[in-house]
Amino acid sequence: MNINLNENFFKLKESYLFSEIAKRVRDYSAKNTDKKIIKLGIGDVTLPLTPVVITSMHKAVDEMGNKDSFRGYAPEYGYNFIRDTVASFYKTWGVSIEGEEVFVSDGAKSDLGNIVDILGDNLILIPDPVYPVYLDSNIMSGRKVKFLNATIENNFLPMPDETITESTIIYLCSPNNPTGAVYSHKQLKIWVDYAIKTGSLIIFDSAYATFIKGDLPHSIFEIDGAKKCCIEINSLSKMAGFTGTRCAWTIVPNALESNGHKLNKMWARRQATKFNGVPYIIQRGAEAVFSEKGLQESKALVEYYMENARLISEVLKEKGVWFTGGISSPYIWLKCPNNLGSWEFFDYLLNNAQIVGTPGQGFGNGGEGYFRLTSFGDRENTLEAVERLRKLL
Ligand code: PLP
Repeated sequence: MNINLNENFFKLKESYLFSEIAKRVRDYSAKNTDKKIIKLGIGDVTLPLTPVVITSMHKAVDEMGNKDSFRGYAPEYGYNFIRDTVASFYKTWGVSIEGEEVFVSDGAKSDLGNIVDILGDNLILIPDPVYPVYLDSNIMSGRKVKFLNATIENNFLPMPDETITESTIIYLCSPNNPTGAVYSHKQLKIWVDYAIKTGSLIIFDSAYATFIKGDLPHSIFEIDGAKKCCIEINSLSKMAGFTGTRCAWTIVPNALESNGHKLNKMWARRQATKFNGVPYIIQRGAEAVFSEKGLQESKALVEYYMENARLISEVLKEKGVWFTGGISSPYIWLKCPNNLGSWEFFDYLLNNAQIVGTPGQGFGNGGEGYFRLTSFGDRENTLEAVERLRKLL
């Protein structure tokens, strides 16, 4: 063939993190067939969907098998019942939004990747380290990216660089994957004020909002002025175990305008053109998550994982290993002991304790020397991993 390709793809760094982890684990297992490996590396959940969700989805399955209640294509932005339910849920965080500002989708990853479609060529500001989708989707679109360094000195919560005065697109992730850091109201107010002053847009990823403990913002829309400069993306993946079921939402406020153009209208157009909606059965399951019982059940899921986080944190404290996170996020971000590099520590843990974590370097250069452990494992494996760490460190 001789067609022109999107050459921006050739600028992407080889996404070798998870394949390299898998390869090292495979090589180790082949040589040590008697050893049980415990995975504390993946960001996937292990607990099943909760009873109220399953009941609601079963009912929806029956409706789909009946001519009178069968549904075909779902509305591209989500059925009104789920858009309104999400909007009502935000009231619990003191946020008032309209159902028509909520766009339901098959995942936060899709929305984070697709949002570039409605944005032109702006300078992009992305934290380092962070969830890799922000960077890669902007590289694919040929955008110029500048990093916001998240370091131990700023508690992994970068603040605006006042020397950048142009209009930019700013990605913020709070609670952060991988560092577990969470912005305070005061810090987010500084970001919102900065965005308004510079005419910038903040894309706020709050996929771990329900893991927050204490008086910290769950939504960027808790901050005054945010409706003029922010889009928020959230998901049921971690909150309710929907990683394989797929349901998320993006909030594009009606008040969000650039040069007289409403971003809500543009995102609606984008979705209507390229997306055909989340399945009815899934949307009914999602609706059930926000019922009183559903919220209790998903709270129990989060508490289960956070107990794992507490167990991992305890052993690290006991051993004097520096770490952060694990309180308002399922991620524990530790400094590799003895100044080991991220991959060196990966090999050390695999070879000596048969524990698999994620090298911080995989989330950006700023992650070098750090390591991510997750609390999404089951209790039994987490307890065994904790005992192994107790012996090893
Ligand atoms: N945002 C962050 C920060 C994540 O860590 C993840 C998944 O790990 C996602 C978004 C993706 O969520 P979803 O499963 O809804 O695509």
